[in-house]
Amino acid sequence: MNHDPMPETQAPWPARDGLRIERVRAIVTAPDGVPLVVVKIDTSEPGLYGLGCATFTQRFHAVAATVDRHLAPMITGRHPADIEDITRMLHLSSYWRNGPVLNNALSGVDMALWDIAGKRAGMPVHELLGGRVRAAADTYLHAGGASVEHTIELAEEILAAGYRHVRLQSGAPGLGHYGAPGTPGGYPGLPYPDGWDVQRYLRETPKLFERARDKLGEEPHLLHDVHSRLTPKQAIVLARALEPYRLFFLEDPIAPEHYDRLPEVRQAAPMPIAAGEQLGSVPDATRLILGGGMDLLRLHISSIGGLTPARKLVALCELTGVGTAWHAPADVSPVGAAANLALDVTTPAFQIQEGHLYGDAVREVFPGTPHPRDGFLYPSEEPGWGVDLDETLAARHPPETHRHERWAARVRRPDGGLEAP
Ligand code: MG
Repeated sequence: MNHDPMPETQAPWPARDGLRIERVRAIVTAPDGVPLVVVKIDTSEPGLYGLGCATFTQRFHAVAATVDRHLAPMITGRHPADIEDITRMLHLSSYWRNGPVLNNALSGVDMALWDIAGKRAGMPVHELLGGRVRAAADTYLHAGGASVEHTIELAEEILAAGYRHVRLQSGAPGLGHYGAPGTPGGYPGLPYPDGWDVQRYLRETPKLFERARDKLGEEPHLLHDVHSRLTPKQAIVLARALEPYRLFFLEDPIAPEHYDRLPEVRQAAPMPIAAGEQLGSVPDATRLILGGGMDLLRLHISSIGGLTPARKLVALCELTGVGTAWHAPADVSPVGAAANLALDVTTPAFQIQEGHLYGDAVREVFPGTPHPRDGFLYPSEEPGWGVDLDETLAARHPPETHRHERWAARVRRPDGGLEAP
């Protein structure tokens, strides 16, 4: 084994000009409280740089260290045009590949190189991908109220703002159901009074959708996220109970550890099944697409390595009749949101985009943050992603470690047993 210091890595072909990668670094900022990881690649051309999303908010220190200490020395000096070769080299060179830490770090580099490519060409990335097949990406927002009536009120506000799709989650005693608040001490006398009760969830969720159809009418597209908390049989029970309410999709009915049983759930479910946001490898995503277990692929694009692998999976979706519905709530940076959008508007496989309304602080730190109009996201026409980063402002929002994990550690059944967050 060679333990010599890593020499400057060069491609075995001549670069077309003198442009070089000069500096690669991870920047972590939490303007809305959620740690966002962005990779910035500076080039030898003054003012020419790229930004990429590497946001694994629960393990951001590990991603930043991977970028700064492992990846940066390997690509400093390379021509930034060799995106396919650079990302493949970074992926293969760890020998033990895949996983969300390595893939998010890789995504940060990959997306930053695409940003640079767009800026060099004077074109938005969606044009580099072959151009638009639609004007904009239709999106949905989350309505998660403390009660059924509160959830429906929130949904009415979202629909009144021009959205046609809304995800409904309703609260419960104790922890609340996923995506909606609870009431502390909701299960007095039980070992863990702040817990989550699966039987109550299975009983109450169809009532939420029955009431929602009564109040919201036939037209709105209604979605629901189980967040991986059911067994395959429980998922089938829930899906059948929700049949009368014609969901746009039922998301993550079972945990990724049980994906080999997704086909059984999908076959029994009357509505489309969306799954995949917790996957951290391209081979896993490929198996999910080809396995017949879901209708809509929900990847956290940075967790499978960025735009370069994602566009290959998108092509596979197009060829196999699977739709796309990328993951994008608060734990995707605006740069990642722009990458989602570039894929959304360039593939016939697109079905829906999860929306998120970033707060003012994020939009100040990231000028050009995508923002919906009447429920649609329109891609920027600026070169690259069209999203910038104000590093001075970013530094004013240091991340807080274990913000998400403190909540996750409390996700338990009323008997005290841990549940998947
Ligand atoms: Mg989800």
